[in-house]
Amino acid sequence: MDETPESPRARLFAEGRRLPASAARVGTPTRGPGEWSQRGPPLLPVAPSTRVVARLASAWVIAALLGVAAPAPAAERVGNVLVLYSYPWRLPINVEGDRGLHEAIRTSAERPVLVCDETLDAPRFGGPAYEAVVVKYLREKYVAKAPDVLVAVGDVALDFLLTRRTLLFPGVPIVYAGVDQKTLQSMPPLPAGVIGVPIDHTYYPTINLAFRWHPRAHRLVAVTGTSEVDRRIEAQLRAELPRVKPGVTVELLAGLPLDEILRRVAGLGQDAVVWTAGVFRDGANQSFVPRDVVAAIAAASTAPVYTSFDTLIGNGTVGGYSPSIYGIGRQAGEIVNDLLDGGAPGTLRLPRPLPQRLVVDWRQARRWEIPENAIPSEAVVKFKPPPLLEAYPNDVLVAVLVALLQTALIGWLVVEHHRRRRAEAVREVQSLELAHASRLAVAGELTASIAHEINQPLGAILSNADAADLILESPNDRRDEIRTILADIRRDDRRASEVVRQWRGLLAKHALEPRAFDLNGVVRDVESLLRAEARRRGVALRIQPAPTPAETVGDPVQIQQALINVVLNAMDAVAGLPDDRRTITVPVECVDGRVTILVRDRGHGIAPADLPRLFEPFFSTKSGGMGLGLAITRTLVESHGGRIWAENGPGEGARFHIELPAVRGHDDAPPEPA
Ligand code: ADP
Repeated sequence: MDETPESPRARLFAEGRRLPASAARVGTPTRGPGEWSQRGPPLLPVAPSTRVVARLASAWVIAALLGVAAPAPAAERVGNVLVLYSYPWRLPINVEGDRGLHEAIRTSAERPVLVCDETLDAPRFGGPAYEAVVVKYLREKYVAKAPDVLVAVGDVALDFLLTRRTLLFPGVPIVYAGVDQKTLQSMPPLPAGVIGVPIDHTYYPTINLAFRWHPRAHRLVAVTGTSEVDRRIEAQLRAELPRVKPGVTVELLAGLPLDEILRRVAGLGQDAVVWTAGVFRDGANQSFVPRDVVAAIAAASTAPVYTSFDTLIGNGTVGGYSPSIYGIGRQAGEIVNDLLDGGAPGTLRLPRPLPQRLVVDWRQARRWEIPENAIPSEAVVKFKPPPLLEAYPNDVLVAVLVALLQTALIGWLVVEHHRRRRAEAVREVQSLELAHASRLAVAGELTASIAHEINQPLGAILSNADAADLILESPNDRRDEIRTILADIRRDDRRASEVVRQWRGLLAKHALEPRAFDLNGVVRDVESLLRAEARRRGVALRIQPAPTPAETVGDPVQIQQALINVVLNAMDAVAGLPDDRRTITVPVECVDGRVTILVRDRGHGIAPADLPRLFEPFFSTKSGGMGLGLAITRTLVESHGGRIWAENGPGEGARFHIELPAVRGHDDAPPEPA
């Protein structure tokens, strides 16, 4: 038998046969032509002696010299399968079925199979003359490769092979595939050796599904063609119409030119659904590939298009119930395997017919707003975009990680922010406490002056009271003098009260309530608070309020405290100096949107080395000094958005500048120097 391969697949297996039998086939099962047999003992001794090898080698050489072919390695007989399709190759139904068939047929080096495909190309070709040519063609083509199994795909091929079996390949078993049960029932009983799995393909489940998914529709527009196949599909549809949902009106677009079909479906409303299996030939006698027609109908249609052929899904149809064409191909392939393995056609256990299953195009389901939960879970849903995680696992992983990190970072920042806010609040309270403690300490230092400030009016009151007593004992009417004395008493009382009020204002604990206030008022209060102390120390404290209000925003008590600290330091600096140098001048100025209080003394000044450290906590040059006064003062000033700095005066003494933001900008002439 000439086994020149025609297809790559056949070539592969032919190459498989050419493997040296001695190397590859020793002891392996093989089969002779037309039968399956177990291979006999090895051709060569397993461990030949040198002598035997030499003898054999010379035999090969002699044989070669004499031109006698060396004995051919025993080759397995190739199982020939001829698949005859009814319809054109390009039909998706053929492509899909063919895939299943070829994938199922088991072929190997040990049992090579040669599958040859032919088509009758119905309905484009047909008639007795054509069939006669095909018969001749097949007989002559396959004379050297007589098929061991015939596969008839579709009813046209089955009919063809049955009627010409004796003429073509007598006695060769026929496996039919893709032939409907109803068609088989309408045929005479199948002769022996013709087997297959019929398909149970009905259209009404798809049509009823369409009306369930489009409850407003009550009109079925079915599109078919004019070829024999088209007419058979139409006939089946008509036969099934009684099983379509009651109340549906049916409009059959059969025998129309494609243009007219497209025009009709383009004018449909929400009351219609379209069903089609495509068109092989239209009313204008044009032949088509049904899939192309289905795509054109779906593109033109203003109503959803359904089909009962899964190979037509993906071209704009919503979907429908269909047997798996691929599965049908596979089943036929399994039967072919059994026959090639030596099974007798009548004794084979055939697979059960495949049930119809629902196939849905996800994109069309979205387009026609079919709820996701209306699609049964067992449906085969095509073209559904995979979940993000499936489609881009790495990207999703990275995104999730980034999001987690970001969340963790934000969480950490929030926690840190709260912690900082709490720490700030604690620090604020502590600094308020410290400022208050420092005010108390100052007051403690000034107890003698404060006592003097209060005692003085009290003493005056007492003296005035004594004087009044004496006047009352006098026989003369001296009521005017009494009135003057009472006025003095009242004035002294007010003076004492004012001292108490001012110190209480400075020393009382109070919450920070920023408000606008006049620095002129602050320096006046400070002068009043420290007047007695200045007098006690013999220091001339001269304040020079600005001619206009010098307003800033904040807590006046804290600025008072800051100023008291600076003025007391100035008093310390001038202590022990001659009278004329015990002078402190405190002018208030408003310049360029800032208000400043300058504290000028004529003391010993600040050593240049100490200047940078002046405001550091615990820096002091005084014996018994705490070194906290200026540190607290700077904190108070800065918390008001201001600044404080020190310098030595041009001639003598030190100058402390307290600068604060002004509520309104003032530009005053600089005050007189001290
Ligand atoms: P303390 O008064 O307890 O020393 P301060 O913080 O109030 O603490 O002052 C720090 C230091 O600044 C003082 O010890 C002093 O050396 C210096 N100082 C402050 N004011 C003046 C001034 N007017 N003249 C000279 N030195 C000053």
